[in-house]
Amino acid sequence: MAQVLLEGIHKVYPNGFEAVQTCSFTIQDGEFVVLVGPSGCGKSTLLRMIAGLEEITEGTLSIGDRVVNDVDPADRNIAMVFQNYALYPHMTVAKNMGYGLKNRGISKAAIEAKVREAADMLNLSDYLDRRPSQLSGGQRQRVAMGRAIVRQPDLFLFDEPLSNLDAKLRNQMRIEVRALQRRLGTTAVYVTHDQVEAMTMADRIIVLNGGRIEQIGTPKEIYNTPASTFVASFMGAPPMNVLNATVSDQQVTLDAGLELPVSAPAASSGPILVGIRPEDLTLGEGTTPFDVQIVEELGAQRLLHGTLGGQAFSVNVNKDHEAGTGTIPVGINPGAVHFFSREDGFRI
Ligand code: ATP
Repeated sequence: MAQVLLEGIHKVYPNGFEAVQTCSFTIQDGEFVVLVGPSGCGKSTLLRMIAGLEEITEGTLSIGDRVVNDVDPADRNIAMVFQNYALYPHMTVAKNMGYGLKNRGISKAAIEAKVREAADMLNLSDYLDRRPSQLSGGQRQRVAMGRAIVRQPDLFLFDEPLSNLDAKLRNQMRIEVRALQRRLGTTAVYVTHDQVEAMTMADRIIVLNGGRIEQIGTPKEIYNTPASTFVASFMGAPPMNVLNATVSDQQVTLDAGLELPVSAPAASSGPILVGIRPEDLTLGEGTTPFDVQIVEELGAQRLLHGTLGGQAFSVNVNKDHEAGTGTIPVGINPGAVHFFSREDGFRI
C-alpha cells in the first residue's frame, strides 16, 4: 500500500524539450488516478518517471515514505502493465505470470500458489499451460494483469493497457480492471487518451495539456465544473459548445448580436467564452433560435448539429424527440452555463 507524492516534477529531454512542467500532486493510498490528455501532453513521460524508466530532471518523487528519485525501477515495488502486454512468447501463461517472483527467493510451490490464485481472479485457470500466441487479446491483457498482481506491488502503473482491444472488450476490461483494483486495494496510476476510460475508471482525474496540469478532480468535478475550455472540450462526447460572446452589465450577447437569456458573473465584462453542454438545453422550449442542419441518430440519443447565432452548436436529445432540420427554439438552463476568459480559456 502506498501514497505517491510528486513535488515540482519537471522533465527536460536531452534535446531540450520540456515534456513535463513542474507537476505537483498526491495520490492517496488505494486511490485510482487517471492521467488523461491528448497525444504528446506528457502523460507517458510522467508515468515513466514514477516507474523509474525516465530520469527526473527536477523535483521530488516519493512512493510510501521513501524518496525514490534515485531508486532503481526494480526496487520501487511497482508493477507496470503496458499496451503491448510485454509477455514472453516462449513461456506458458503460468511461467509468464510467475516470472517476476523467480529471483526473489520464493519457493516454487509458493509461486505456483500465487499464480493459481491470480489466475482464478482473472478467469485464466484453464489457460495456464498455453502460450501467449494461443490466447485472445483480452486474455493476453489478463495475463499481463496477473503478472502484476502476483508481485503484490505497492503501486500499479498502467500505460494505455486497453488500447489494443476492440471497443466491446475494452468496455468489459475497464470494468474488470477497476473491480480488481478495488478488491486488492492497490494504489493505481492509469494513463489514457480516452476520456470515457478516464471518466468511468478514475477516483480522480488529472487532465494534462502541453506538459502542465490543467485540472485535478473527481470525474464529476471535471465534467460539471471544467477549469478551462480545454478540459470542457476534451472531457465529454459530444464536447461542450463554446461560443464567442461579449458581456455588458451581465447581459451576454453572442458575437453576431444574439442576446442569450442568461446572466454573466458580476466580475466579467467585455469579450468572453460561453460554454453549454449539448445535453443542457431544452429543445422546442425557450426563445433562442437554433438552426439545425444535420441530425445524427445514436440509438438512445439523437444529436442535432447546426448553428446558434451563427456559431457551430450541438444539442443532444432523447431518442423520442422528433425534431428534424430547420429552426427550432431552445431553452437554456441558466444554472448549466459556463463562463471562460477569452484571453486564457480559464473559468471565470
Ligand atoms: P501519447 O499519448 O502519444 O503517448 P503522451 O501524452 O504520453 O503521448 P509523451 O510520450 O509523454 O506524451 O511525450 C510528451 C512529449 O515529449 C511529446 O511531445 C514527445 O514528442 C516528447 N518526447 C518523448 N520522448 C522524448 C525523447 N526521448 N526526447 C525528446 N522528446 C521526447
